[in-house]
Amino acid sequence: MKYLISACLVGKKCNYKGESNVVKKLRELYLKGDAVLVCPEVMGGLKTPREAAEILTYQEKLTIKTISGKDVTEAFIIGAGKALKVAKENRITTAILKARSPSCGCSQIYDGTFSKKIVDGDGVTASLLKLNGIKVITEEEILQKLKKLSDDKE
Ligand code: SF4
Repeated sequence: MKYLISACLVGKKCNYKGESNVVKKLRELYLKGDAVLVCPEVMGGLKTPREAAEILTYQEKLTIKTISGKDVTEAFIIGAGKALKVAKENRITTAILKARSPSCGCSQIYDGTFSKKIVDGDGVTASLLKLNGIKVITEEEILQKLKKLSDDKE
């Protein structure tokens, strides 16, 4: 079974700072050939590095802006659509996406004030994948599950 995984989690330097958010276990999964990678923000046409962006609102009209106020909503929507297409082409049923990202975050995201405050909600890509029946989990949930398994063994 292949997983859809946020590219930054396996070591691709595609986050907004031009760095990765590598998680060793997920990189191993990728190197074994069990991962299909997506970076929705880059797939949507944004450059790396890029300005930090947050979801301002999902109410009535989705709006995502960078910290300097540039509207990047369109790029996020395009990237989410492309990520969904990749998922469907590869018959993905589970995605492991980067926690709290405005694209990839699942269940929790930053609140749009660029002050590190967290609110309930999904990133744009995570939301679209879920709407299409794909299970989305964060790398943090995976690490917690792995830790529990190893604790239970001891
Ligand atoms: Fe990582 Fe997703 Fe952000 Fe790309 S859009 S850098 S994959 S969290």
